[in-house]
Amino acid sequence: MNVCIIGEGLTSLALAKNLINKKINVHIYYKTKIQKKITSRTIGISKNNLEFFKKEIFEITKINYWKIKKIEIYSQKIKNENIFNFNNEKDDLFYMVKNERLYELLKKEVLKSKFIKRIAINKKLNEKNLNKKNYDLIINSDPNNFIAKKYFTKKIEKNYFNVAYTAIFKHKEIENNTAVQVFTEFGPVAFLPISKNETSVVCSLDTKSKKFSNSEIIELINKNNPKYVIKNIFDINSFNLSSSVLRKYYQKNILAFGDLLHRIHPLAGQGFNMTIRDIKIFSEIIQNKIDLGLQLDSSILKDFENQARNKNFMFSNGIDFIYEFFNLEKKLKIRNFTKILKAVGKNNNFNNLLIKIADRGINL
Ligand SMILES: Cc1cc2nc3c(=O)[nH]c(=O)nc-3n(C[C@H](O)[C@H](O)[C@H](O)COP(=O)(O)OP(=O)(O)OC[C@H]3O[C@@H](n4cnc5c(N)ncnc54)[C@H](O)[C@@H]3O)c2cc1C
Repeated sequence: MNVCIIGEGLTSLALAKNLINKKINVHIYYKTKIQKKITSRTIGISKNNLEFFKKEIFEITKINYWKIKKIEIYSQKIKNENIFNFNNEKDDLFYMVKNERLYELLKKEVLKSKFIKRIAINKKLNEKNLNKKNYDLIINSDPNNFIAKKYFTKKIEKNYFNVAYTAIFKHKEIENNTAVQVFTEFGPVAFLPISKNETSVVCSLDTKSKKFSNSEIIELINKNNPKYVIKNIFDINSFNLSSSVLRKYYQKNILAFGDLLHRIHPLAGQGFNMTIRDIKIFSEIIQNKIDLGLQLDSSILKDFENQARNKNFMFSNGIDFIYEFFNLEKKLKIRNFTKILKAVGKNNNFNNLLIKIADRGINL
């Protein structure tokens, strides 16, 4: 089987590695224009997903990720009032990795394989030329190319008018395994530990009526800093936030993948986790066909859509619901809103359910 993957981000590389592990030939098409390196992006990967990643993608070593054992959620409204606590006494909740590190490791692993061919995208890359190569499957993770614009335009989209500002700061060494999210008047500010003396921050801020300068971001970090003795804050980057959910996952033998299928608000750190769960589904469908000696053809895409689309739709809506839920107080001016949330947060069964959904998706 010959598979073509267009795009060379985390999604494409992780999927490519899973397929070449099955001895499937993969051609990766990459853009030659060098992207600006963003060193302040980090990704939280759920426990269940990291286990899958290690087993079916590649064995990422301990030195490259950092354990999170507890999550604390605060509202700034009643200063420092703790709304939710998530912790699992026996186990880690999730793991933090630096995007850039994961990207470099994945790329190195993929390029080692004799089943991979890397092809630079040139002006002649169009559907006709791709068809000439007779690929069994074409998988596209680039939301901006000719394939996305021709086949994958029917989607439900939402602009949050939010910008995510990301940064990393160095601080005095502490035991650093608790992630903290503070719901401020401008939006959530998440403190995500990545080592004993480094923590990443994601401020997802409402920018409808106000734009934020770097010094205002630093001020916001300092104001909501839960416990750190900060030495320096560096590499502030920003990303416009929107969500989109594709209605149809494939056309002919072309499949959309990753953020092109579902882009979500990062407040729960679940975007790439959804993609890892998609890779798991896709991988199992292919492995079943291989085990049964069946031909690997485009029926795989139909099976994938059938198994993944509804779960992804519900999950994306769930994330949007959380975003809107925490906005209710501002919109409706509900008094005692934080107290209501606190009461909900005390319910252990509810907390355990949220932990499971974040770990495994809707697939409990
Ligand atoms: C602020 C923010 C925080 C997020 N936090 C989480 C989280 O905690 N957990 C989670 O599951 N999801 C999270 N996400 C979602 C996650 O980042 C995306 O789902 C995922 O990165 C999409 O991967 P991709 O393959 O589309 O492209 P990416 O890997 O993000 O790359 C985008 C483009 O940049 C290029 N590129 C990337 N890295 C490099 C590099 N080092 N050198 C050269 N080129 C490069 C790629 O070629 C690609 O074209 C977050 C998203 C945002 C905006």
